[in-house]
Amino acid sequence: MEALVLEKTKVLGLREFPLEESLGAHDVRVRILTVGVCGSDVHYYQHGAIGPFVVRAPMILGHEAAGVVEEVGGAVTSLKVGDRVCMEPGIPDPNSRATRLGLYNLDPAVRFWATPPVHGCLRPSVVHPAAFTFKLPDNVSFGEGAMVEPLAVGMHAANKARLRPGDVAVVLGAGPIGMVTALAALAGGCSRVIITDVQAPKLALAASLGPITPVNVRDQNLADVVRQATNGWGADVVFEATGHPSAVAQALDVLCPGGCVVFIGMPGAPVPIDIVAAQVKEARLETIFRYAHVFPRALALMGSRKIDVRPLITDRYEFADSIAAFDYASAMKPTSVKVQIELPV
Ligand SMILES: [Zn+2]
Repeated sequence: MEALVLEKTKVLGLREFPLEESLGAHDVRVRILTVGVCGSDVHYYQHGAIGPFVVRAPMILGHEAAGVVEEVGGAVTSLKVGDRVCMEPGIPDPNSRATRLGLYNLDPAVRFWATPPVHGCLRPSVVHPAAFTFKLPDNVSFGEGAMVEPLAVGMHAANKARLRPGDVAVVLGAGPIGMVTALAALAGGCSRVIITDVQAPKLALAASLGPITPVNVRDQNLADVVRQATNGWGADVVFEATGHPSAVAQALDVLCPGGCVVFIGMPGAPVPIDIVAAQVKEARLETIFRYAHVFPRALALMGSRKIDVRPLITDRYEFADSIAAFDYASAMKPTSVKVQIELPV
């Protein structure tokens, strides 16, 4: 089948790729229609590795996908041919201890699309377990369906924060993950989200999505804004979505006593933490790795329009122009949030 293949660092090919996938009893075959380009895809393209995951052989990219079921395995009862779906891209080993404990995202043996050596989904069809394939509500488009994967990261972060109605949250970073985290925080009960960035167009877009206060940290002081918004108390939750080393200190600085910091961004190197600054607030520090158990909830929120990700889908390319899409995503304009690739129907 024709696929978008990362041949090696900085070299993509849109070409015929030999891939035989047999349909198991519990699997579905899905015709892929929309695939989002993720920061991780772009990172593999530009650098050939993320941490310990190194691309050593040609690999198909893409892990944010929606499409239509075209074949179902004999034991599948939850889906039928023609269903519009999106897929959770990480398939854990059902017998692993982590999976049995419900922590399936932490299963060391998880097979995650476009994480070497596992092929991704930028190709006409995939075979996927029905258990990790989810029906789209009728009013949710394929483009929105392909946004469930990044939204799931924000949803998981909101779960880890244990939000309460009326919380004030700070989101550090208005990249795609910062944006979806702000949406998840509002859907989870936050009364207000204060979001930071250095790019004015991203902040303007974020501010249009709900009760979201943009703070350009180039010329505004975040601590002042948070103090003012909370009568000097601080934010109940801080979501760190930049991965920048300076963000740890900033997160603790604007946090309220007894508050929670969720670390979403992945710094490229170890970052020091001022433990005492955390202790004097009895800060709860949480981390996330991808997500678990949130796809159905993310889809339900999209279906009810409590979460609307459509303004975040800023750029669309045809499959034939996939390489151009990746080149654009490698040096995106500040007005762009999510690039998606659409496959022929
Ligand atoms: Zn992604």
